[in-house]
Amino acid sequence: MSKLLSAIEKAETIAIGGHVRPDGDCIGSCMGLFRYIKKNYRDKQVCVYVEEIPDAFDYLKEEDAFCEKPSYDLFISLDCGDEERLGDAQKVMEKTPYVLNIDHHITNTKFGNETVVKEASSTCEILYGLMEEEKLDAGIASALYTGIIHDTGVFKHSNTTKETMEIAGKLIAFGIPFGKIIDDSFYRKTYKQLQIMGRCLMESVRIMDGRCLFSIVRQNVMKLYEAKPSDLDGIIDEMRTTEGVEVAILLDEREPGEFKVSMRSNEIVDVSVIARYFGGGGHVRAAGCAIKGSAFDVINNLTGHIEKQLG
Ligand code: AMP
Ligand code: MN
Ligand code: MN
Repeated sequence: MSKLLSAIEKAETIAIGGHVRPDGDCIGSCMGLFRYIKKNYRDKQVCVYVEEIPDAFDYLKEEDAFCEKPSYDLFISLDCGDEERLGDAQKVMEKTPYVLNIDHHITNTKFGNETVVKEASSTCEILYGLMEEEKLDAGIASALYTGIIHDTGVFKHSNTTKETMEIAGKLIAFGIPFGKIIDDSFYRKTYKQLQIMGRCLMESVRIMDGRCLFSIVRQNVMKLYEAKPSDLDGIIDEMRTTEGVEVAILLDEREPGEFKVSMRSNEIVDVSVIARYFGGGGHVRAAGCAIKGSAFDVINNLTGHIEKQLG
């Protein structure tokens, strides 16, 4: 029996937590596991702790998932590299006697009583391996499929393996509307998102002989469009696939003089090392962190590290 299933069996009340500003893999894994426990362990009580889920994932929302119990026997952390990134859920975790940490970030700090941290396209891919296939249904499969397509950029990032494709194949065999899931949750943009993306791309700046491309989203622009951080999803991928670019950087000004940094690389630079240096984390080809200072200083600091790696 997997570590996940034996932990579930021993618990009566279970909390599931994901990282702040949840993405497709975080939402897919949290809701996939919620649905799995609800379907197969009817006597267990389970609540999900994630921040507001963007409308693009409406098909994964469950009214009864966002409950609150006074205490839990088990806390399962999903897709989260360190305790702080759990946000408000961190407090819930700290009060819970047993913590299971399931994740695929190479920067994972291995917090918790038990961990399943390994290389995989997504946390959803790991979860699939920990569940019993005959106990899945179309709802669970839709959630796990969502996480896989989001973290692989629809099966094109370098984290996509033969196993990823095989698991995706098994998930679509449940009769899920996979084309609609991809369009609705990954490709569809609101007009607002389209405009911000256009603006970011237009204002992007090439440096280091075009090997690095950066863009800055200022707070006044976010306010003008009444945009949420998730409205910026997808922009950095357009930047990364620009000809000649090895590293794309998107700075999102969260507070005056404080930036959320997103980095993507193509072949050479390990951006997880750079993100970790600045207190963040992530993967070799996709990582993030928060840095204080002027945008100019932030870019200067980052390019110093990129240049070092490019030699
Ligand atoms: P993003 O650029 O926000 O899409 O993040 C890219 C990858 O890096 C994701 O796997 C995130 O979970 C991870 N990541 C982003 N920001 C941070 C951070 N501040 N600390 C740790 N990991 C991060
Ligand atoms: Mn994630
Ligand atoms: Mn993930």
